[in-house]
Amino acid sequence: MALLEKAPAKINLSLDVLGKRNDGYHNVEMIMTTIDLADRIELSPLEQDKIIISLESRYVPNDERNLAYKAAEIFKEKYGIKMGVHIKIEKNIPVSAGLGGGSTDAAAVLRGMNRLWNLNIPLKELAELGATIGSDISFCVYGNTAIARGFGEKIEKLDSPPPCWVVLAKPDIGVSTRTIFARVKVDELYHPDTNNILEALTEKDFSKLCRNIGNSLEQITQYLHPEVRQIKEAMRQIGATGVLMSGSGPTVYGLVEHENKARRIYNGMRGFCEEVYLVRLIG
Ligand code: ATP
Repeated sequence: MALLEKAPAKINLSLDVLGKRNDGYHNVEMIMTTIDLADRIELSPLEQDKIIISLESRYVPNDERNLAYKAAEIFKEKYGIKMGVHIKIEKNIPVSAGLGGGSTDAAAVLRGMNRLWNLNIPLKELAELGATIGSDISFCVYGNTAIARGFGEKIEKLDSPPPCWVVLAKPDIGVSTRTIFARVKVDELYHPDTNNILEALTEKDFSKLCRNIGNSLEQITQYLHPEVRQIKEAMRQIGATGVLMSGSGPTVYGLVEHENKARRIYNGMRGFCEEVYLVRLIG
């Protein structure tokens, strides 16, 4: 019997790079929240001990390079599952966009396999397992709103942001997270004020949230891809209250409190950028 698991995208309300570690990763501090733009993952058990990925995408491999495959592989290994699994992925989240598409698919596979075999493994353990194959997977296992520290694997849950709409605009380029981090010089970066964002979440203060969202990687991605800056400027001019690049980019989002205004901004951005979405925060 097939089982469905939703795999929602995330946006970064903050991304601060604190320093480089000896293992080559960076220590970060990131506040992330979930949006209602989601891939759909369908899992079916197989008698034969193999992992099959089915998906239609020009940009994502359907073999062992897929993060969903890797997640199934480590899950089977860790919990001694001898059966196989067929993973169908309906890809709705843009790829290499800063929205955590691969990580959320992997997290959904971990949650889904847990349900498929009735193992009752706590989310904390799944999050730790996920961190062994990708740094954003731990957050995606929990979803909602959280702050991630370490290289992204240490998760602390947070209050949800005040309800609002999100306009996403993605220029027609993909950005490799690895390339952006390779250019990081920690001393030269902008560092967001994470405490102010935490306060805004506790106080459910939309304006304060919008004033304080920030991303250390923006200046690097904007330098390599000037269209990111142009999209930010357009989004601000059209009237979005808080505007920021998510993750390592290139997707830019605008937070908007009221639906009518959000629809106006969405329509305005469609004239400016090919891929535009209007979604809600569900964190
Ligand atoms: P993040 O915000 O976590 O940095 P991203 O949204 O920028 O991630 P992804 O969409 O996760 O980037 O894709 C990054 C790379 O991962 C791409 O090269 C893609 O081919 C590969 N990948 C592997 N598995 C998947 C998957 N299931 N979905 C999307 N991309 C995948």
